[in-house]
Amino acid sequence: MVPKNNPRKGSSGARSAVSIAFLGGLGEIGRNCAAIEQDGSILLIDCGLMFPDTDMLGVDLVLPDFTWLLERRDQIVGCVTTHGHEDHVGGLSYLLREVAFPLYGTELTLGLAKGRIEEARLLSQTSFNVVADGERVNVGPFELEFLPVTHSVPQGVSTVIRTAQGTILHSGDLKIDLTPVDGRLTDLQRMGSIADDEGIRLLLADSTNAEEAGHSQSETSVGAVLYNLMHQHEGRRVITACFASHIHRIQQIADAAISFGRKVAPLGRSMRRNVSMAREMGLLRIPDTSIIDIEQVDDYPPGEVCVICTGSQGEPMSALTLLASSENRWLKLTPHDTVILSSHPIPGNEHSVSRVIGNLIRQGAEVVHSGIQDVHATGHAKAEELKLLHSILQPDWFVPVHGEYRHMSAHARLAEIMGTPKDRILVAEDGDRLTLDGDGLRFDGQIPADYIFVHGTVGDIGSNVLSARRILADEGVVSAIVCVDFSTRTLVAGPEIATRGWVDGSEADELIAELAQRVRKATEKSLADGGNMKKVERAVRRAAGGFVSEKTRRRPMIVPVVMEP
Ligand SMILES: [Zn+2]
Ligand SMILES: [Zn+2]
Repeated sequence: MVPKNNPRKGSSGARSAVSIAFLGGLGEIGRNCAAIEQDGSILLIDCGLMFPDTDMLGVDLVLPDFTWLLERRDQIVGCVTTHGHEDHVGGLSYLLREVAFPLYGTELTLGLAKGRIEEARLLSQTSFNVVADGERVNVGPFELEFLPVTHSVPQGVSTVIRTAQGTILHSGDLKIDLTPVDGRLTDLQRMGSIADDEGIRLLLADSTNAEEAGHSQSETSVGAVLYNLMHQHEGRRVITACFASHIHRIQQIADAAISFGRKVAPLGRSMRRNVSMAREMGLLRIPDTSIIDIEQVDDYPPGEVCVICTGSQGEPMSALTLLASSENRWLKLTPHDTVILSSHPIPGNEHSVSRVIGNLIRQGAEVVHSGIQDVHATGHAKAEELKLLHSILQPDWFVPVHGEYRHMSAHARLAEIMGTPKDRILVAEDGDRLTLDGDGLRFDGQIPADYIFVHGTVGDIGSNVLSARRILADEGVVSAIVCVDFSTRTLVAGPEIATRGWVDGSEADELIAELAQRVRKATEKSLADGGNMKKVERAVRRAAGGFVSEKTRRRPMIVPVVMEP
């Protein structure tokens, strides 16, 4: 396949260059954030967060590093939100604390983004500019056009960004679902005509499922499975769990439930909020007569209710997890309950989901999950859909985005198969900055892109804190306290040894006494050698660390404390 002739080729040399910096999302599934620069203006595409891995102890969430952006705060002209998932909008309530800028997105996307921004009392820092499918908007030097795409939340968009260096297409998260629940198709037709008329100079596209062969299942295929399950479980109470933003899944659960005469009861804070928001926007159709409050559930026979709740990923404080550990204040499980997890565990969540399933079964409930029935369909295009996309768009240059490195390289191979020359495919990672000019696209330096860990209220807990936590978790801590009079150069009290998570039981007292002896000798030697506070501290640390490692082959954190009387 030969790349399409680009009408701007040869003439773009004198025009302003365009750069794209990746703050996150290239190397992980999460914290998606890209910055497109031209003529001193920066347009952000998404600003998301990432949920922590299990080795990020105590971390609540992970953000992009905003350092580079904040140094250019006056240049930010706005942020496009491609859809309402947290990995695309969840970082906004942190960045907006530091700098004000307008948001552009569809009604539901902005509605979902607004929740956290409002909670953080930052509404005055931004404006919510609702865009319609196909609408064109000028933001700074860029002309934007928003094309509908199908995904696991309604109203997702691909963004066409017209720049001095031609047309860039950012796919957003998408699949090519030909029978979506709302009939709003991925606009392949418009994509094709843009590719024909103006040519796609650069494509940035979702790589999440690039390794998966074939086509993704249509969302509507899940509806039929849910319908059959409601039929099979007639007379039993049904409790379903899915993502609170997956309005189409909620619609299909509700439709199936209502067709068997059930009332629908949303449970969980975000589920209740999103159901009422989506109903107000006309995106979710549940008649008033079919929806009940969770408090009313016990007023109905089990066979006449269907609860829809949050927690399908086994999140610790979610409705489903609380239900599984019989701590949910609204619901108690009985052997007359069927629980349907209409979801698939995100990598990293398998263990918590499995534990929740175990606890549900232990309480006598029957559990249906994606390992047993097709109660879930992915929201991301698989290999054949991506090939279709490439065949329509035929970009001059391609950069895979949204994925771990393996997903992005799989996507690069697909692009190559579909005719983009290998030297026109750049597999970039977080922190890479690329520049597009008359000569094409090239790597052009780095920006800071560390993981920013948030624990508790605001701010960065830093990777030092995290590595200390890992040592504490794996090895424990040993503290040696000595009180030293530097005027007489004597040890006046201690050593006092305190430890947690190092040794326990019968051998502990003996080891600790021996350790104290070792530290005493080291302290006295250091004092005799004329050691100051710092030197004594170092001697204590070395003696304690050496002893612990020699006697127990362990490496707990050693905390030496030198005090003066
Ligand atoms: Zn995403
Ligand atoms: Zn998404």
